[in-house]
Amino acid sequence: MTNKTSRYGLPLKVEFCSKCVMSNQKPNSSVEFTSSSPKNKIGINIEKKICDACKYNEIKKSIDWEKREKELIKLLDKHRKNSSAYDVVVPGSGGKDSAFTAHILKYKYGMNPLTVTWAPHLFTDIGFKNFNNWMRIGGLDNLLFTPNGLLHKRLTSLAFKNLLHPFQPFIIGQKLIAPKIAEKFNIPLIMYGENQAEYGNKISENYVPKMDESFFSIKKKKDIFLGGVSLEELLKNEKFKLNEYESYIPFGTNILKQKEIEFHYLGYYIKWDPQECYYYAYENTGFSPNIERTQGSYSKYSSIDDKIDYFHYYTTLIKFGIGRATYDASQEIRNNKITRDEGIALVNRFDQEFPDKYFREFLDYIDFTESNFWKTIEKFRPKHLWKKEKNGYRLKKKIR
Ligand SMILES: [Zn+2]
Repeated sequence: MTNKTSRYGLPLKVEFCSKCVMSNQKPNSSVEFTSSSPKNKIGINIEKKICDACKYNEIKKSIDWEKREKELIKLLDKHRKNSSAYDVVVPGSGGKDSAFTAHILKYKYGMNPLTVTWAPHLFTDIGFKNFNNWMRIGGLDNLLFTPNGLLHKRLTSLAFKNLLHPFQPFIIGQKLIAPKIAEKFNIPLIMYGENQAEYGNKISENYVPKMDESFFSIKKKKDIFLGGVSLEELLKNEKFKLNEYESYIPFGTNILKQKEIEFHYLGYYIKWDPQECYYYAYENTGFSPNIERTQGSYSKYSSIDDKIDYFHYYTTLIKFGIGRATYDASQEIRNNKITRDEGIALVNRFDQEFPDKYFREFLDYIDFTESNFWKTIEKFRPKHLWKKEKNGYRLKKKIR
């Protein structure tokens, strides 16, 4: 730890993007914002900080989308099977993004997609309805993979306790299921939805349309950690056998290279707008938004299928000071749906709202008492972000 970074390796000085409402505390993005020093109206240099996702958004404006679509068609033609076989895997849960991706690949571009779902921890009613409508109304084929509930629960609990990251086992499983199914069905193309650069994730890697394949192959099992515990320790201390961890373990050898499986983001090839995906999914796959606002945010249609998701965002609020409204508002500002001032007001109003609606179910799921939940939360609350006051904690630096 240096004197300049916090316990999560994040800068001690909190700064906000001047275009959206994201701060420099977001992990997996460049920690340093780009500083440009344009002169203001009276000729004084002003420093502007812009986050990776906003930088990418600027680049998006100059992309020749017609040319990109031609590249897409060329890619699809290379993989098109024109037989009864599937020719592309689309991972997702039937939310607006995966619903859009699979449907447009099939009905506009003539592909034969197999959609693949890693089940949510606990489906919400609306999430289960949207998931089923994806096939029933959207006219798509799907494989639903539901992991061993006892093991998944235990790993989620460990991930909450050790990392304050209850979503980590889900993310690992969800990332691995598509290549595993692609390999089994001999489908050499996997199409994700939005380009991860939309969220400011390691932008330099994601300018290129392919995904980092190293995640999917691992040489030594001892390098595998789940919920902050090494696989070796898990095998020693938990009741599950090695073969029960199969769905969380990447390929042992470079099978993906041998089978020439490619990863692409549709968001690289066609201009991505989450709200347009929502309209498209509403029209074509029977997708419905929630009837009520999502706790911790103001939106009704983003990531609404899993009851545990609310606590994923609550834990990012604790660790990084970034809650769900910040993610939603940043994206909508970039897509010109709201202004930055409106975004700031929404963040200040909703970002710190506690998601009490599914709190009991979350505690039951991770097998925690309420008091242990709060003790764990406090262990992970960084001092450079939070100040203790009479009525609880307050962010030291809020967006204004
Ligand atoms: Zn930004």
